[in-house]
Parts: sequence; C-alpha cells; structure tokens
Amino acid sequence: MKQILFVSEMRRYGSEARKAGKTVGLVPTMGKLHEGHLSLMRKANAECDLAVTSIFVNPTQFSPDEDYGSYPRDPEGDSALAEEVSVDALFCPGVDEIYSPNACTKLHLPGLEDKLCGRFRPIHFSGVATVVLKFLNIVRPDKAYFGEKDYQQLLVIKRLAKDLNVETEIVGCPIVREPDGVAMSSRNVYLNAEERESARSLYQSLSLAQSLAESGERRASVLKEKIKEIICGRPHTKIQYISICHPETLEEMEEVQSIALVALAVWVGKARLIDNCILKC
Ligand code: AMP
Repeated sequence: MKQILFVSEMRRYGSEARKAGKTVGLVPTMGKLHEGHLSLMRKANAECDLAVTSIFVNPTQFSPDEDYGSYPRDPEGDSALAEEVSVDALFCPGVDEIYSPNACTKLHLPGLEDKLCGRFRPIHFSGVATVVLKFLNIVRPDKAYFGEKDYQQLLVIKRLAKDLNVETEIVGCPIVREPDGVAMSSRNVYLNAEERESARSLYQSLSLAQSLAESGERRASVLKEKIKEIICGRPHTKIQYISICHPETLEEMEEVQSIALVALAVWVGKARLIDNCILKC
C-alpha cells in the first residue's frame, strides 16, 4: 500500500492511473477506521482497479465548541486496517497541505445544509462540502464512496456533484451495525459500558418506528413520541432532534406518505450519535 502525504503526489498518482486506463475509487474518511469504513473500501476495491482512502480530520467542519481536538486518531491502526482490505493508496495530508492560510472559498447548499444536523451544526456541511470537493479535485476518482449512516452528508455530496458537474459518480453504501444494532462510529469509543448500553436505544427506536409504519401508522407526531419514549427511558441520553422528513428534500412531514426518512441525533454521555432509516408504508 502506498502512503501519500502530499497533494502533488496524490495528483500524480491519480493522473498516472488514468493514463494507464485504470479506474480509481476514493473513500474519504476522518480515520479511526472501523467495519463501516472498511465496507466502503471493499466496495471501492471490487468496483475499481485502484482503491484510494483518505484520512483527514477536517477542521473546517467543526465549530469551536466541538470535538476537533479530541476526535479519535489512530494512524498506525488505520494504516494496518487499510492494508488488510487491500487499499492501494492511503492519502493522509496535514491540515497545511489542504488549506493555504489565505483560502477563502466555501461551498454552501442553502436548503440542505441548514436542515436536520445543520440546525445544530451551522458550519458543518459547508466545511464537509468544501473539503470533499477539494479531495475530488485532487484525486479525480471515477467513483467516490460514502455511507448512508451520514445520510444528510451523502445528500449534500450528491447534490454538489450534480450542481457543479463533477464527473465522479457518488456511491451511497448501507449502514454497518454492531450485532446489537448500534451503528458503527468512530465516536463510539467515547462511550463507557453503561452509555454503550443506552446507545442501543437509537436503533431500537428506529426499528419500532419502521414496524409501526409498516402496520399503518402514518402520523409523524405519534412515531416521534414512540421514538422519544424508548430513548428517554435510557440513562445518559439527551435527544437533539428527531426528524421525519422527505428523503430528498429533507422537508419535515406530518404524515408519512409512501416513503420517509427518520433521522436522529442523540447525545449519549459526551458522544453525539446519529442514525437513520427509511420508512416505507
Ligand atoms: P467518517 O470517518 O466518520 O467521516 O466516515 C467516513 C465515511 O464512512 C463516511 O462516508 C461515513 O458515512 C462512512 N461511515 C461511517 N460509519 C459508517 C457505518 N457505520 N456504516 C457505513 N458507513 C459508515
């Protein structure tokens, strides 16, 4: 596996691959890799000639009061895991390599960046969109892989790629869960044993909403109340939001039509966890 630290070298790697007629799949991550990330890398490997993974904890998507400084970092463990799933190149640039001191360009997606998580993290999606476009411009991959775990992020990236005529195909991949249903997340390391137990309530409440919707319950207020009961019944939990909304526009729904997104953000101890599922009825 090739380790790349510099933008110029990453560009050269991408352009040599293209010259040789090889397809490239990119998996952008913030590291502290787990099975969720690895599932994206395996897919990139299966669908492309070369799989590139980037590890970059992007400062511009964190507000000053968030966990940028303490975000879990494990460069050696990450490198071993990426090698295990046969990633061809691991791109780990420093912050100065990605942002020049006088950089001032920022992407905005009004109407998408300000809903759900964006209501509580006002600069987050602008930071994500800008850095992802930079990585797409540096690597110029044929395909880039993102998890549905970060549903709103996937929607933002699909939209920016469409709006800005980006050639890369954006591929969404299913949520990978622990055996008890908890969505895998780098932030799960923040949970102690009791909090980890409480974290199960996110998936349990989503599953209940799904089965209620399947048996005909369409009122968003009732579904939200049931979700709330399950989560608030567990210690150390604090709901930030529960949304039942249109899966493309993220507009809130009062009644579930044929399909809806249920998305949650919940503080469990000092971990802010997100999860979601699609309701069909
Ligand atoms: P992160 O390192 O948290 O920024 O995540 C990097 C990529 O991995 C994003 O596209 C995430 O959506 C995806 N990802 C993170 N957790 C999971 C998971 N449990 N299942 C599937 N994809 C995931």
